[in-house]
Amino acid sequence: VIGYSLMRDPRHNKGVAFTEKERNAHYLTGLLPPAVFSQELQEKRLMKILREYEVPLQRYMAMMDLQERNEKLFYKLLIDNVEELLPVVYTPTVGEACQKYGSIFRRPQGLYISLKEKGRILEVLKNWPEKSIQVIVVTDGERILGLGDLGCQGMGIPVGKLSLYTALGGVRPSACLPITIDVGTNNQKLLDDEFYIGLKQKRATGQEYYELLEEFMCAVKQNYGEKVLIQFEDFANHNAFELLAKYRTSHLVFNDDIQGTASVVLAGLVAALKLVGGTLADHRFLFLGAGEAGTGIAELIALEISKKTNTPLEEARKKIWLVDSKGLIVSSRRESLQHFKKPWAHEHEPVKELLAAVKAIKPTVLIGTSSVGKAFTKEVVEAMASMNEKPLILALSNPTSQSECTAEEAYAWSEGRAIFASGSPFDSVEYNGKLFVPGQANNAYIFPGFGLGLIMSGTIRIHDDLLLAASEALAAQVTEENYAKGLIYPPFTNIRKISAHIAATVAAKAYELGLASRLPRPTDLVKFAESCMYTPVYGSYR
Ligand code: NAP
Ligand code: MN
Repeated sequence: VIGYSLMRDPRHNKGVAFTEKERNAHYLTGLLPPAVFSQELQEKRLMKILREYEVPLQRYMAMMDLQERNEKLFYKLLIDNVEELLPVVYTPTVGEACQKYGSIFRRPQGLYISLKEKGRILEVLKNWPEKSIQVIVVTDGERILGLGDLGCQGMGIPVGKLSLYTALGGVRPSACLPITIDVGTNNQKLLDDEFYIGLKQKRATGQEYYELLEEFMCAVKQNYGEKVLIQFEDFANHNAFELLAKYRTSHLVFNDDIQGTASVVLAGLVAALKLVGGTLADHRFLFLGAGEAGTGIAELIALEISKKTNTPLEEARKKIWLVDSKGLIVSSRRESLQHFKKPWAHEHEPVKELLAAVKAIKPTVLIGTSSVGKAFTKEVVEAMASMNEKPLILALSNPTSQSECTAEEAYAWSEGRAIFASGSPFDSVEYNGKLFVPGQANNAYIFPGFGLGLIMSGTIRIHDDLLLAASEALAAQVTEENYAKGLIYPPFTNIRKISAHIAATVAAKAYELGLASRLPRPTDLVKFAESCMYTPVYGSYR
Protein backbone atom coordinates (compact mmCIF):
# COMPACT_ATOMS: atom_id res chain seq x y z
CA VAL A 1 0.00 0.00 0.00
CA ILE A 2 1.39 3.42 -0.84
CA GLY A 3 0.59 7.06 -0.36
CA TYR A 4 -2.99 8.14 -0.37
CA SER A 5 -4.33 4.61 -0.10
CA LEU A 6 -2.22 4.07 3.02
CA MET A 7 -4.09 6.93 4.64
CA ARG A 8 -7.46 5.69 3.44
CA ASP A 9 -6.99 2.28 5.03
CA PRO A 10 -8.08 2.47 8.69
CA ARG A 11 -5.89 -0.50 9.56
CA HIS A 12 -2.76 1.34 8.37
CA ASN A 13 -3.61 4.97 8.77
CA LYS A 14 -1.70 6.90 11.42
CA GLY A 15 -2.97 10.37 10.53
CA VAL A 16 -0.64 13.10 11.66
CA ALA A 17 1.49 10.48 13.40
CA PHE A 18 3.13 9.48 10.11
CA THR A 19 6.78 10.41 10.60
CA GLU A 20 8.78 12.71 8.35
CA LYS A 21 10.54 9.66 6.89
CA GLU A 22 7.32 7.79 6.25
CA ARG A 23 5.78 10.82 4.59
CA ASN A 24 8.74 11.09 2.25
CA ALA A 25 8.98 7.39 1.49
CA HIS A 26 5.27 6.92 0.84
CA TYR A 27 4.28 10.00 -1.14
CA LEU A 28 2.39 11.47 1.79
CA THR A 29 4.13 14.83 1.88
CA GLY A 30 1.62 17.60 1.43
CA LEU A 31 -1.32 15.33 2.16
CA LEU A 32 -0.86 16.02 5.84
CA PRO A 33 -0.35 19.24 7.76
CA PRO A 34 3.30 19.77 8.74
CA ALA A 35 3.07 18.88 12.43
CA VAL A 36 3.98 15.35 13.48
CA PHE A 37 2.12 14.06 16.55
CA SER A 38 2.92 11.10 18.75
CA GLN A 39 0.08 8.60 19.23
CA GLU A 40 -0.19 9.87 22.82
CA LEU A 41 -0.72 13.43 21.65
CA GLN A 42 -3.33 12.27 19.13
CA GLU A 43 -5.09 10.45 21.94
CA LYS A 44 -5.00 13.47 24.22
CA ARG A 45 -6.42 15.68 21.51
CA LEU A 46 -9.26 13.29 20.69
CA MET A 47 -10.21 12.78 24.31
CA LYS A 48 -10.41 16.53 24.69
CA ILE A 49 -12.74 16.76 21.69
CA LEU A 50 -14.89 13.86 22.92
CA ARG A 51 -15.30 15.42 26.34
CA GLU A 52 -16.50 18.66 24.79
CA TYR A 53 -19.51 16.97 23.20
CA GLU A 54 -22.57 17.34 25.35
CA VAL A 55 -24.74 14.79 23.60
CA PRO A 56 -23.72 11.15 24.20
CA LEU A 57 -24.69 10.17 20.67
CA GLN A 58 -22.17 12.68 19.30
CA ARG A 59 -19.46 10.90 21.25
CA TYR A 60 -20.63 7.60 19.83
CA MET A 61 -20.52 8.98 16.28
CA ALA A 62 -17.08 10.45 16.85
CA MET A 63 -15.83 7.06 18.07
CA MET A 64 -17.35 5.26 15.08
CA ASP A 65 -15.74 7.79 12.73
CA LEU A 66 -12.42 7.20 14.42
CA GLN A 67 -12.77 3.43 14.06
CA GLU A 68 -13.35 3.94 10.34
CA ARG A 69 -10.44 6.31 9.99
CA ASN A 70 -7.69 5.07 12.29
CA GLU A 71 -8.33 1.72 13.89
CA LYS A 72 -5.27 1.61 16.12
CA LEU A 73 -6.01 5.01 17.59
CA PHE A 74 -9.63 3.96 18.18
CA TYR A 75 -8.50 0.95 20.20
CA LYS A 76 -5.83 2.94 22.01
CA LEU A 77 -8.50 5.38 23.19
CA LEU A 78 -10.84 2.60 24.19
CA ILE A 79 -8.18 0.67 26.11
CA ASP A 80 -6.67 3.64 27.91
CA ASN A 81 -10.03 5.22 28.83
CA VAL A 82 -12.12 2.13 29.24
CA GLU A 83 -14.35 3.29 32.10
CA GLU A 84 -15.16 6.51 30.31
CA LEU A 85 -15.69 5.05 26.84
CA LEU A 86 -17.42 1.76 27.57
CA PRO A 87 -20.75 3.57 28.09
CA VAL A 88 -20.16 5.33 24.77
CA VAL A 89 -19.44 2.35 22.53
CA TYR A 90 -21.75 0.06 24.50
CA THR A 91 -24.72 0.41 26.86
CA PRO A 92 -26.32 2.87 27.36
CA THR A 93 -25.31 4.99 24.32
CA VAL A 94 -25.26 2.11 21.85
CA GLY A 95 -28.97 1.68 22.58
CA GLU A 96 -29.73 5.16 21.37
CA ALA A 97 -27.47 4.63 18.39
CA CYS A 98 -29.42 1.50 17.43
CA GLN A 99 -32.71 3.34 17.73
CA LYS A 100 -31.34 5.87 15.26
CA TYR A 101 -29.14 3.50 13.26
CA GLY A 102 -31.25 3.87 10.16
CA SER A 103 -30.43 7.52 9.90
CA ILE A 104 -26.75 7.17 10.74
CA PHE A 105 -25.83 4.21 8.52
CA ARG A 106 -22.87 5.25 6.42
CA ARG A 107 -20.50 2.40 5.67
CA PRO A 108 -20.62 -1.32 6.25
CA GLN A 109 -19.37 -2.10 9.73
CA GLY A 110 -20.67 -5.63 9.59
CA LEU A 111 -22.48 -8.08 7.37
CA TYR A 112 -26.24 -7.98 6.72
CA ILE A 113 -27.86 -11.29 5.92
CA SER A 114 -31.55 -11.07 5.12
CA LEU A 115 -34.28 -13.42 3.98
CA LYS A 116 -33.46 -12.23 0.45
CA GLU A 117 -30.13 -14.03 0.70
CA LYS A 118 -31.68 -17.42 1.44
CA GLY A 119 -29.85 -20.07 -0.54
CA ARG A 120 -26.68 -17.99 -0.94
CA ILE A 121 -25.52 -17.12 2.53
CA LEU A 122 -22.12 -18.71 1.90
CA GLU A 123 -21.64 -16.33 -1.03
CA VAL A 124 -22.52 -13.38 1.19
CA LEU A 125 -19.98 -14.46 3.80
CA LYS A 126 -17.35 -14.50 1.08
CA ASN A 127 -18.05 -10.83 0.35
CA TRP A 128 -16.57 -9.89 3.71
CA PRO A 129 -12.99 -8.74 3.03
CA GLU A 130 -11.35 -10.65 5.92
CA LYS A 131 -10.93 -14.37 5.48
CA SER A 132 -9.57 -15.52 8.82
CA ILE A 133 -12.34 -15.01 11.38
CA GLN A 134 -12.20 -16.09 15.01
CA VAL A 135 -15.30 -14.49 16.56
CA ILE A 136 -18.71 -13.71 15.08
CA VAL A 137 -21.29 -11.78 17.07
CA VAL A 138 -24.70 -12.17 15.48
CA THR A 139 -28.10 -10.67 16.30
CA ASP A 140 -31.50 -10.80 14.69
CA GLY A 141 -32.39 -7.52 16.38
CA GLU A 142 -35.51 -8.77 18.13
CA ARG A 143 -34.55 -7.86 21.73
CA ILE A 144 -31.96 -5.09 21.64
CA LEU A 145 -30.85 -4.38 25.24
CA GLY A 146 -34.11 -3.68 27.07
CA LEU A 147 -35.40 -1.67 24.10
CA GLY A 148 -37.25 -4.38 22.20
CA ASP A 149 -37.39 -5.11 18.47
CA LEU A 150 -35.14 -2.78 16.49
CA GLY A 151 -34.91 -5.04 13.45
CA CYS A 152 -31.98 -4.42 11.19
CA GLN A 153 -30.95 -1.41 13.27
CA GLY A 154 -29.64 -3.83 15.86
CA MET A 155 -26.32 -3.84 13.96
CA GLY A 156 -24.84 -1.46 16.54
CA ILE A 157 -24.86 -4.32 19.05
CA PRO A 158 -22.57 -6.83 17.28
CA VAL A 159 -20.34 -3.97 16.17
CA GLY A 160 -20.03 -2.65 19.73
CA LYS A 161 -19.57 -6.08 21.32
CA LEU A 162 -16.79 -6.98 18.93
CA SER A 163 -14.94 -3.74 19.56
CA LEU A 164 -14.95 -4.86 23.21
CA TYR A 165 -13.63 -8.28 22.22
CA THR A 166 -10.65 -6.44 20.80
CA ALA A 167 -10.18 -3.69 23.36
CA LEU A 168 -10.80 -5.77 26.48
CA GLY A 169 -9.96 -9.28 25.34
CA GLY A 170 -7.27 -8.56 22.78
CA VAL A 171 -8.84 -10.42 19.87
CA ARG A 172 -7.46 -9.01 16.59
CA PRO A 173 -9.95 -6.61 14.96
CA SER A 174 -9.56 -8.32 11.59
CA ALA A 175 -10.62 -11.63 13.20
CA CYS A 176 -13.95 -10.18 14.35
CA LEU A 177 -17.10 -10.28 12.23
CA PRO A 178 -20.35 -8.49 13.22
CA ILE A 179 -23.48 -9.92 11.59
CA THR A 180 -27.12 -8.89 11.58
CA ILE A 181 -29.70 -11.35 10.36
CA ASP A 182 -32.76 -9.58 9.02
CA VAL A 183 -35.94 -11.63 9.03
CA GLY A 184 -38.19 -8.56 9.23
CA THR A 185 -39.40 -6.64 12.25
CA ASN A 186 -42.59 -6.43 14.27
CA ASN A 187 -41.80 -2.86 15.24
CA GLN A 188 -44.58 -0.91 13.55
CA LYS A 189 -42.76 2.40 13.89
CA LEU A 190 -39.88 1.03 11.83
CA LEU A 191 -42.21 -0.55 9.27
CA ASP A 192 -43.91 2.83 8.82
CA ASP A 193 -40.63 4.72 8.54
CA GLU A 194 -39.69 5.51 4.94
CA PHE A 195 -36.03 5.62 5.97
CA TYR A 196 -35.97 2.21 7.67
CA ILE A 197 -32.90 0.31 6.44
CA GLY A 198 -34.20 -3.23 6.90
CA LEU A 199 -36.72 -5.56 5.26
CA LYS A 200 -40.17 -4.05 5.44
CA GLN A 201 -42.12 -7.07 6.54
CA LYS A 202 -43.26 -8.79 9.72
CA ARG A 203 -40.74 -11.18 11.24
CA ALA A 204 -40.47 -14.59 9.68
CA THR A 205 -41.09 -17.27 12.29
CA GLY A 206 -41.21 -21.05 12.60
CA GLN A 207 -39.79 -23.12 9.80
CA GLU A 208 -38.86 -20.15 7.61
CA TYR A 209 -36.85 -18.63 10.46
CA TYR A 210 -35.16 -21.83 11.51
CA GLU A 211 -34.23 -22.74 7.93
CA LEU A 212 -32.46 -19.42 7.44
CA LEU A 213 -30.57 -19.85 10.70
CA GLU A 214 -29.65 -23.42 9.82
CA GLU A 215 -28.24 -22.27 6.49
CA PHE A 216 -26.33 -19.52 8.27
CA MET A 217 -24.84 -21.85 10.87
CA CYS A 218 -23.75 -24.36 8.23
CA ALA A 219 -22.27 -21.67 6.01
CA VAL A 220 -20.27 -20.24 8.90
CA LYS A 221 -18.80 -23.61 9.76
CA GLN A 222 -18.07 -24.37 6.13
CA ASN A 223 -16.37 -21.03 5.56
CA TYR A 224 -14.48 -20.55 8.82
CA GLY A 225 -14.13 -24.03 10.26
CA GLU A 226 -14.92 -25.71 13.54
CA LYS A 227 -13.18 -23.29 15.88
CA VAL A 228 -14.91 -20.02 15.03
CA LEU A 229 -16.79 -18.71 18.07
CA ILE A 230 -20.37 -17.69 17.31
CA GLN A 231 -21.88 -15.42 19.93
CA PHE A 232 -25.66 -15.03 19.80
CA GLU A 233 -26.65 -11.60 20.99
CA ASP A 234 -29.98 -9.97 21.72
CA PHE A 235 -32.25 -12.61 20.22
CA ALA A 236 -35.72 -12.78 21.77
CA ASN A 237 -35.97 -15.52 24.36
CA HIS A 238 -38.40 -17.65 22.35
CA ASN A 239 -35.58 -18.25 19.87
CA ALA A 240 -32.49 -17.80 22.05
CA PHE A 241 -32.89 -20.89 24.23
CA GLU A 242 -33.79 -23.08 21.28
CA LEU A 243 -30.89 -21.91 19.10
CA LEU A 244 -28.43 -22.43 21.94
CA ALA A 245 -29.73 -25.92 22.70
CA LYS A 246 -29.77 -26.83 19.02
CA TYR A 247 -26.25 -25.70 18.12
CA ARG A 248 -24.24 -26.24 21.29
CA THR A 249 -23.43 -29.81 20.32
CA SER A 250 -22.36 -29.04 16.75
CA HIS A 251 -20.81 -25.55 16.92
CA LEU A 252 -18.77 -23.36 19.27
CA VAL A 253 -21.74 -21.21 20.31
CA PHE A 254 -22.20 -18.88 23.22
CA ASN A 255 -25.23 -16.80 24.14
CA ASP A 256 -24.06 -13.77 26.03
CA ASP A 257 -27.51 -12.79 27.27
CA ILE A 258 -28.01 -16.20 28.87
CA GLN A 259 -24.54 -17.55 29.61
CA GLY A 260 -22.37 -14.44 29.77
CA THR A 261 -24.82 -12.68 32.05
CA ALA A 262 -25.04 -15.75 34.24
CA SER A 263 -21.30 -15.96 34.57
CA VAL A 264 -20.79 -12.28 35.38
CA VAL A 265 -23.62 -12.19 37.92
CA LEU A 266 -22.46 -15.40 39.59
CA ALA A 267 -19.00 -13.82 39.92
CA GLY A 268 -20.54 -10.81 41.66
CA LEU A 269 -22.51 -13.05 44.01
CA VAL A 270 -19.47 -15.14 44.89
CA ALA A 271 -17.53 -11.94 45.57
CA ALA A 272 -20.43 -10.50 47.61
CA LEU A 273 -20.26 -13.45 49.99
CA LYS A 274 -17.17 -11.79 51.44
CA LEU A 275 -19.37 -8.83 52.42
CA VAL A 276 -22.60 -10.55 53.42
CA GLY A 277 -21.21 -13.81 54.76
CA GLY A 278 -22.25 -17.41 54.34
CA THR A 279 -21.98 -19.61 51.28
CA LEU A 280 -24.14 -19.39 48.16
CA ALA A 281 -26.24 -22.25 49.50
CA ASP A 282 -27.12 -20.20 52.59
CA HIS A 283 -28.88 -17.58 50.49
CA ARG A 284 -32.34 -17.26 48.99
CA PHE A 285 -32.73 -15.63 45.61
CA LEU A 286 -35.66 -13.80 44.06
CA PHE A 287 -35.66 -12.59 40.47
CA LEU A 288 -37.93 -10.07 38.81
CA GLY A 289 -37.83 -11.22 35.18
CA ALA A 290 -37.65 -14.85 34.10
CA GLY A 291 -36.25 -14.54 30.59
CA GLU A 292 -32.81 -15.19 29.16
CA ALA A 293 -30.91 -13.29 31.82
CA GLY A 294 -33.06 -14.32 34.80
CA THR A 295 -33.28 -18.05 34.12
CA GLY A 296 -29.72 -18.15 32.79
CA ILE A 297 -28.36 -16.67 36.02
CA ALA A 298 -30.66 -18.84 38.13
CA GLU A 299 -29.47 -22.00 36.42
CA LEU A 300 -25.79 -21.19 36.86
CA ILE A 301 -26.29 -20.33 40.55
CA ALA A 302 -28.07 -23.65 41.02
CA LEU A 303 -25.28 -25.48 39.21
CA GLU A 304 -22.63 -23.87 41.39
CA ILE A 305 -24.57 -24.65 44.60
CA SER A 306 -25.14 -28.21 43.49
CA LYS A 307 -21.44 -28.73 42.74
CA LYS A 308 -20.23 -27.05 45.91
CA THR A 309 -22.61 -28.88 48.23
CA ASN A 310 -22.83 -32.16 46.38
CA THR A 311 -26.61 -31.96 46.17
CA PRO A 312 -28.82 -32.70 43.17
CA LEU A 313 -29.50 -29.77 40.86
CA GLU A 314 -33.25 -29.99 41.60
CA GLU A 315 -32.57 -29.44 45.29
CA ALA A 316 -30.32 -26.46 44.61
CA ARG A 317 -32.96 -24.89 42.37
CA LYS A 318 -35.39 -24.72 45.29
CA LYS A 319 -33.43 -21.83 46.79
CA ILE A 320 -34.24 -19.73 43.74
CA TRP A 321 -37.57 -18.08 42.88
CA LEU A 322 -38.60 -16.05 39.87
CA VAL A 323 -41.35 -13.56 39.12
CA ASP A 324 -42.42 -12.90 35.53
CA SER A 325 -45.07 -10.60 34.08
CA LYS A 326 -47.79 -12.87 35.51
CA GLY A 327 -46.41 -13.06 39.03
CA LEU A 328 -44.42 -15.60 41.04
CA ILE A 329 -43.63 -18.74 39.07
CA VAL A 330 -45.32 -21.54 41.01
CA SER A 331 -46.30 -25.12 40.35
CA SER A 332 -49.97 -24.37 39.61
CA ARG A 333 -48.79 -22.39 36.57
CA ARG A 334 -46.59 -25.20 35.26
CA GLU A 335 -48.77 -26.27 32.32
CA SER A 336 -48.81 -22.84 30.72
CA LEU A 337 -45.14 -22.01 31.32
CA GLN A 338 -42.50 -21.74 28.59
CA HIS A 339 -40.11 -24.69 28.90
CA PHE A 340 -37.21 -22.62 30.30
CA LYS A 341 -39.38 -21.53 33.24
CA LYS A 342 -40.63 -24.98 34.19
CA PRO A 343 -37.65 -25.94 36.41
CA TRP A 344 -38.50 -22.94 38.61
CA ALA A 345 -42.16 -23.75 39.25
CA HIS A 346 -41.87 -24.60 42.96
CA GLU A 347 -44.70 -25.40 45.35
CA HIS A 348 -46.28 -22.17 46.57
CA GLU A 349 -49.59 -20.41 46.42
CA PRO A 350 -49.91 -17.88 43.58
CA VAL A 351 -48.51 -14.39 44.25
CA LYS A 352 -49.16 -11.57 41.80
CA GLU A 353 -47.06 -8.61 42.87
CA LEU A 354 -43.32 -8.30 43.46
CA LEU A 355 -43.75 -6.73 46.88
CA ALA A 356 -45.95 -9.59 48.04
CA ALA A 357 -43.44 -12.08 46.60
CA VAL A 358 -40.60 -10.42 48.51
CA LYS A 359 -42.61 -10.69 51.72
CA ALA A 360 -43.57 -14.30 51.04
CA ILE A 361 -40.19 -15.64 49.88
CA LYS A 362 -37.98 -13.48 52.15
CA PRO A 363 -35.01 -13.43 49.78
CA THR A 364 -31.52 -12.35 50.82
CA VAL A 365 -30.74 -11.49 47.20
CA LEU A 366 -33.04 -9.57 44.84
CA ILE A 367 -32.16 -9.52 41.14
CA GLY A 368 -33.87 -7.43 38.46
CA THR A 369 -33.85 -8.80 34.90
CA SER A 370 -37.24 -7.56 33.76
CA SER A 371 -36.49 -4.46 31.64
CA VAL A 372 -39.09 -2.71 33.80
CA GLY A 373 -37.57 0.55 34.97
CA LYS A 374 -38.40 1.60 38.55
CA ALA A 375 -39.85 -1.84 39.41
CA PHE A 376 -37.86 -1.93 42.67
CA THR A 377 -40.00 0.58 44.49
CA LYS A 378 -39.29 2.16 47.85
CA GLU A 379 -41.55 -0.44 49.49
CA VAL A 380 -39.68 -3.31 47.81
CA VAL A 381 -36.25 -2.06 48.84
CA GLU A 382 -37.48 -1.28 52.35
CA ALA A 383 -38.89 -4.79 52.65
CA MET A 384 -35.50 -6.22 51.62
CA ALA A 385 -33.77 -3.98 54.15
CA SER A 386 -36.13 -4.90 56.95
CA MET A 387 -35.41 -8.61 56.48
CA ASN A 388 -31.67 -8.44 55.82
CA GLU A 389 -28.76 -6.78 57.54
CA LYS A 390 -27.09 -6.33 54.16
CA PRO A 391 -29.60 -6.89 51.35
CA LEU A 392 -27.99 -7.73 48.04
CA ILE A 393 -29.79 -5.86 45.27
CA LEU A 394 -28.89 -6.17 41.61
CA ALA A 395 -30.81 -4.00 39.15
CA LEU A 396 -29.56 -5.42 35.91
CA SER A 397 -31.87 -4.11 33.22
CA ASN A 398 -30.43 -1.91 30.47
CA PRO A 399 -30.17 0.80 29.40
CA THR A 400 -30.26 3.12 32.40
CA SER A 401 -33.91 4.07 31.85
CA GLN A 402 -34.94 0.43 32.32
CA SER A 403 -32.94 -0.15 35.50
CA GLU A 404 -35.18 -1.57 38.27
CA CYS A 405 -33.89 1.14 40.60
CA THR A 406 -31.03 3.61 40.72
CA ALA A 407 -27.96 3.31 42.93
CA GLU A 408 -29.09 6.29 44.92
CA GLU A 409 -32.50 4.72 45.58
CA ALA A 410 -30.99 1.40 46.65
CA TYR A 411 -28.66 3.08 49.16
CA ALA A 412 -31.15 5.65 50.47
CA TRP A 413 -34.08 3.26 50.87
CA SER A 414 -31.91 0.71 52.67
CA GLU A 415 -30.29 3.33 54.89
CA GLY A 416 -26.95 2.66 53.28
CA ARG A 417 -27.00 -1.08 53.97
CA ALA A 418 -27.60 -2.47 50.49
CA ILE A 419 -24.87 -4.09 48.45
CA PHE A 420 -25.83 -2.81 45.03
CA ALA A 421 -24.75 -3.46 41.46
CA SER A 422 -26.45 -2.62 38.18
CA GLY A 423 -26.38 -3.43 34.50
CA SER A 424 -25.85 0.13 33.29
CA PRO A 425 -23.33 2.36 35.05
CA PHE A 426 -24.29 4.66 37.92
CA ASP A 427 -22.12 7.34 39.51
CA SER A 428 -20.96 7.03 43.09
CA VAL A 429 -23.44 8.14 45.71
CA GLU A 430 -22.86 10.01 48.93
CA TYR A 431 -25.28 8.96 51.63
CA ASN A 432 -25.04 10.16 55.24
CA GLY A 433 -21.51 11.35 54.63
CA LYS A 434 -20.33 7.99 53.28
CA LEU A 435 -19.29 7.35 49.69
CA PHE A 436 -20.86 4.33 48.00
CA VAL A 437 -19.43 3.07 44.72
CA PRO A 438 -21.96 0.93 42.84
CA GLY A 439 -20.55 -2.01 40.92
CA GLN A 440 -21.54 -2.71 37.34
CA ALA A 441 -22.46 -6.30 36.52
CA ASN A 442 -21.29 -5.66 33.01
CA ASN A 443 -21.04 -8.66 30.68
CA ALA A 444 -17.90 -7.02 29.34
CA TYR A 445 -16.05 -8.43 32.35
CA ILE A 446 -16.51 -11.96 31.10
CA PHE A 447 -17.10 -12.45 27.40
CA PRO A 448 -13.88 -10.91 26.03
CA GLY A 449 -11.62 -12.98 28.31
CA PHE A 450 -13.87 -16.02 27.95
CA GLY A 451 -13.65 -15.78 24.15
CA LEU A 452 -9.90 -15.28 24.25
CA GLY A 453 -9.56 -18.39 26.41
CA LEU A 454 -11.53 -20.44 23.89
CA ILE A 455 -9.65 -19.10 20.90
CA MET A 456 -6.16 -19.47 22.31
CA SER A 457 -6.79 -23.06 23.35
CA GLY A 458 -8.62 -24.04 20.18
CA THR A 459 -11.66 -25.10 22.18
CA ILE A 460 -14.38 -26.58 20.03
CA ARG A 461 -17.41 -26.79 22.36
CA ILE A 462 -18.62 -24.83 25.38
CA HIS A 463 -19.32 -26.68 28.60
CA ASP A 464 -21.06 -25.08 31.61
CA ASP A 465 -17.95 -25.76 33.71
CA LEU A 466 -16.13 -23.21 31.55
CA LEU A 467 -18.67 -20.57 32.64
CA LEU A 468 -18.19 -21.49 36.29
CA ALA A 469 -14.43 -21.25 35.82
CA ALA A 470 -14.81 -17.76 34.34
CA SER A 471 -17.00 -16.65 37.28
CA GLU A 472 -14.49 -17.83 39.82
CA ALA A 473 -11.62 -16.21 37.94
CA LEU A 474 -13.46 -12.87 37.92
CA ALA A 475 -14.50 -13.06 41.59
CA ALA A 476 -10.87 -13.74 42.50
CA GLN A 477 -9.89 -10.41 40.94
CA VAL A 478 -11.84 -8.33 43.51
CA THR A 479 -9.37 -6.89 46.02
CA GLU A 480 -9.74 -5.96 49.70
CA GLU A 481 -9.56 -2.35 48.62
CA ASN A 482 -12.54 -2.89 46.29
CA TYR A 483 -14.54 -4.63 49.02
CA ALA A 484 -13.92 -1.71 51.38
CA LYS A 485 -15.90 0.52 49.00
CA GLY A 486 -18.74 -1.99 48.78
CA LEU A 487 -17.66 -3.13 45.32
CA ILE A 488 -18.33 -6.69 44.20
CA TYR A 489 -16.60 -6.21 40.84
CA PRO A 490 -13.08 -4.99 40.21
CA PRO A 491 -12.63 -1.63 38.46
CA PHE A 492 -12.50 -1.73 34.68
CA THR A 493 -9.13 -0.02 34.55
CA ASN A 494 -7.37 -3.39 34.89
CA ILE A 495 -9.66 -5.18 32.50
CA ARG A 496 -6.97 -6.50 30.13
CA LYS A 497 -5.17 -8.13 33.01
CA ILE A 498 -8.47 -9.50 34.29
CA SER A 499 -9.32 -10.82 30.82
CA ALA A 500 -5.96 -12.59 30.61
CA HIS A 501 -6.70 -14.32 33.93
CA ILE A 502 -10.18 -15.31 32.85
CA ALA A 503 -8.81 -16.58 29.53
CA ALA A 504 -6.17 -18.64 31.30
CA THR A 505 -8.64 -20.14 33.77
CA VAL A 506 -11.14 -20.98 31.03
CA ALA A 507 -8.43 -22.49 28.84
CA ALA A 508 -7.10 -24.55 31.75
CA LYS A 509 -10.59 -25.95 32.32
CA ALA A 510 -11.00 -26.66 28.60
CA TYR A 511 -7.73 -28.62 28.58
CA GLU A 512 -8.82 -30.49 31.69
CA LEU A 513 -12.11 -31.46 30.03
CA GLY A 514 -10.43 -32.47 26.81
CA LEU A 515 -12.18 -29.74 24.80
CA ALA A 516 -9.05 -27.86 23.77
CA SER A 517 -7.44 -28.75 20.46
CA ARG A 518 -4.32 -26.60 20.60
CA LEU A 519 -1.53 -28.95 21.62
CA PRO A 520 0.76 -29.08 23.44
CA ARG A 521 -0.85 -27.08 26.24
CA PRO A 522 1.21 -23.97 27.00
CA THR A 523 2.58 -24.24 30.54
CA ASP A 524 1.98 -20.67 31.67
CA LEU A 525 -1.51 -19.92 30.38
CA VAL A 526 -1.67 -16.34 31.75
CA LYS A 527 1.56 -15.44 29.96
CA PHE A 528 0.32 -17.18 26.85
CA ALA A 529 -2.98 -15.27 26.98
CA GLU A 530 -1.12 -11.98 27.31
CA SER A 531 1.13 -12.86 24.40
CA CYS A 532 -1.92 -13.53 22.22
CA MET A 533 -3.47 -10.13 22.87
CA TYR A 534 -3.65 -7.47 20.18
CA THR A 535 -2.11 -4.13 21.12
CA PRO A 536 -2.85 -0.94 19.19
CA VAL A 537 0.73 0.15 18.62
CA TYR A 538 1.48 1.81 15.29
CA GLY A 539 3.69 -0.10 12.91
CA SER A 540 6.42 1.76 11.06
CA TYR A 541 6.45 1.97 7.27
CA ARG A 542 9.79 2.07 5.57
P1 NAP B 1 -36.23 -11.39 28.26
O1 NAP B 1 -35.76 -12.75 27.91
O2 NAP B 1 -37.16 -10.71 27.33
O3 NAP B 1 -36.91 -11.49 29.72
C1 NAP B 1 -37.61 -10.45 30.34
C2 NAP B 1 -38.38 -11.02 31.52
O4 NAP B 1 -38.96 -9.94 32.25
C3 NAP B 1 -39.52 -11.96 31.11
O5 NAP B 1 -39.55 -13.07 31.96
C4 NAP B 1 -40.76 -11.09 31.33
O6 NAP B 1 -41.91 -11.79 31.73
C5 NAP B 1 -40.31 -10.28 32.52
N1 NAP B 1 -41.14 -9.09 32.68
C6 NAP B 1 -41.51 -8.19 31.75
N2 NAP B 1 -42.34 -7.27 32.28
C7 NAP B 1 -42.51 -7.62 33.57
C8 NAP B 1 -43.27 -7.07 34.64
N3 NAP B 1 -44.01 -5.98 34.49
N4 NAP B 1 -43.19 -7.70 35.85
C9 NAP B 1 -42.44 -8.80 36.01
N5 NAP B 1 -41.70 -9.36 35.03
C10 NAP B 1 -41.74 -8.77 33.82
O7 NAP B 1 -35.01 -10.41 28.44
P2 NAP B 1 -33.57 -10.76 29.02
O8 NAP B 1 -32.65 -11.15 27.95
O9 NAP B 1 -33.71 -11.67 30.16
O10 NAP B 1 -33.09 -9.31 29.50
C11 NAP B 1 -33.79 -8.66 30.52
C12 NAP B 1 -33.05 -7.40 30.91
O11 NAP B 1 -31.81 -7.74 31.50
C13 NAP B 1 -32.72 -6.44 29.76
O12 NAP B 1 -33.03 -5.13 30.16
C14 NAP B 1 -31.25 -6.58 29.58
O13 NAP B 1 -30.65 -5.39 29.14
C15 NAP B 1 -30.80 -6.92 30.97
N6 NAP B 1 -29.53 -7.63 30.99
C16 NAP B 1 -28.54 -7.16 31.79
C17 NAP B 1 -27.33 -7.79 31.82
C18 NAP B 1 -26.26 -7.30 32.72
O14 NAP B 1 -26.51 -6.49 33.57
N7 NAP B 1 -25.04 -7.75 32.61
C19 NAP B 1 -27.11 -8.88 31.00
C20 NAP B 1 -28.15 -9.34 30.18
C21 NAP B 1 -29.36 -8.71 30.19
P3 NAP B 1 -42.69 -12.80 30.73
O15 NAP B 1 -41.79 -13.99 30.62
O16 NAP B 1 -43.95 -13.11 31.50
O17 NAP B 1 -42.91 -12.08 29.46
MN1 MN C 1 -27.15 -8.59 25.04
